Amino acid sequence: MRGLLILSLLLGAVLGKDDFVGHQVLRISVADEAQVQKVTELEDLEHLQLDFWRGPAQPGSPIDVRVPFPSLQAVKVFLEAHGIEYTIMIEDVQSLLDEEEEQMFAFQARAASTDTFNYATYHTLEEIYGFMDMLVAEHPQLVSKLQIGKTYEGRPIYVLKFSTGGSNRPAIWIDTGIHSREWVTQASGIWFAKKITQDYGQNPAFTAILDNMDIFLEIVTNPDGFAFTHSKNRLWRKTRSITAGSSCVGVDPNRNWDAGFGKAGASNNPCSETYHGKFANSESEVKSIVDFVKSHGNIKAFISIHSYSQLLLYPYGYTTDPTPDQAELDQLAKSAVTALASLYGTKYKYGSIIKAFEIFPNRASGGTIDWTYNQGIKYSYTFELRDTGRYGFLLPASQIVPTAQETWLALQTIMDHTLKHPTEPAPRSLLFSPLATK
Ligand SMILES: [Zn+2]
Repeated sequence: MRGLLILSLLLGAVLGKDDFVGHQVLRISVADEAQVQKVTELEDLEHLQLDFWRGPAQPGSPIDVRVPFPSLQAVKVFLEAHGIEYTIMIEDVQSLLDEEEEQMFAFQARAASTDTFNYATYHTLEEIYGFMDMLVAEHPQLVSKLQIGKTYEGRPIYVLKFSTGGSNRPAIWIDTGIHSREWVTQASGIWFAKKITQDYGQNPAFTAILDNMDIFLEIVTNPDGFAFTHSKNRLWRKTRSITAGSSCVGVDPNRNWDAGFGKAGASNNPCSETYHGKFANSESEVKSIVDFVKSHGNIKAFISIHSYSQLLLYPYGYTTDPTPDQAELDQLAKSAVTALASLYGTKYKYGSIIKAFEIFPNRASGGTIDWTYNQGIKYSYTFELRDTGRYGFLLPASQIVPTAQETWLALQTIMDHTLKHPTEPAPRSLLFSPLATK
């Protein structure tokens, strides 16, 4: 393996990838509001180049931050000076990246069919698009590929449609990878696609779902960002659009939706990881979904999948007001995480985004499912998949399949409930409710 490692390091160097040698991920434990405030001050020091994996939120919820090697000393001294506790979660980010790259390199092989495709390794954009074409070719009666738009850099944006007939049936939407570095999500999306083709006609509960509803699955929701995570910076989160007047690239596509856009919980600084963009739907990756959802008009459940933290969340993220469906969404979330835990015992927390905001800087505005919920899609959920921080975004490939398998049980619970609780098409008035404009 040593030879492979050296080879991949050499390749990385030749290709000019960003290196993370000596970078550490610290887990910071904040005891009170004053300590939260101190860490927030740290976040504002741009020269430190800190990358918050889990932002400062409330006392008691952990903060995970990647600290570049040159800033390590300063950050640790700062924390110690203020009596703030921390542990080192990841000793050296680059060594995890090397292992990941080695694993990909060792298992890369062009699969001849989706049966021989390797679901237990991470794949490039080209490999994933190749997988989608194979799946469509193998199941032309069940699966088709739609292009819903083009990225900022001109890549096609594809959605897989699973349908057993009818026209404009009620539908389930699932997307993975809107934040490009959350690699276990795209990898799980691939596994879900295959699982759908295997379970239809075999699993009675799932067959009933697909006999009555369509499923739309967008596996690579941020293709430019994803390509960039392979070619240049494994930890890239945002889109790749250029903001006039700034040298910083990209918009947070989970802050760019027209729901509480630009309010607290998003940044107006283009250099921030949570930059909301110049205006709502400025990102074509977001606008393409918005147009699709509006023109379809019959989507009943919308599930947007992220990592990490092991959470199942429902609206809202931009206001503490509960949704009118709070009780039902909470009960269904509970059933879904119970189903998920039944396989490997993986524990999830659940709640509204703003209440379970451990992962967010207090709140998140302009998020996907706040918008979809305001469109009348009652069953709007966001997952944060494995893990709780040991590896964070760098989840070892050996956990891909177990993660996808357990998540599927939760998805099936939500889809089943959606099938059994038909909702009326959104009344127009809902689109202009005070909540949508507040
Ligand atoms: Zn995310």
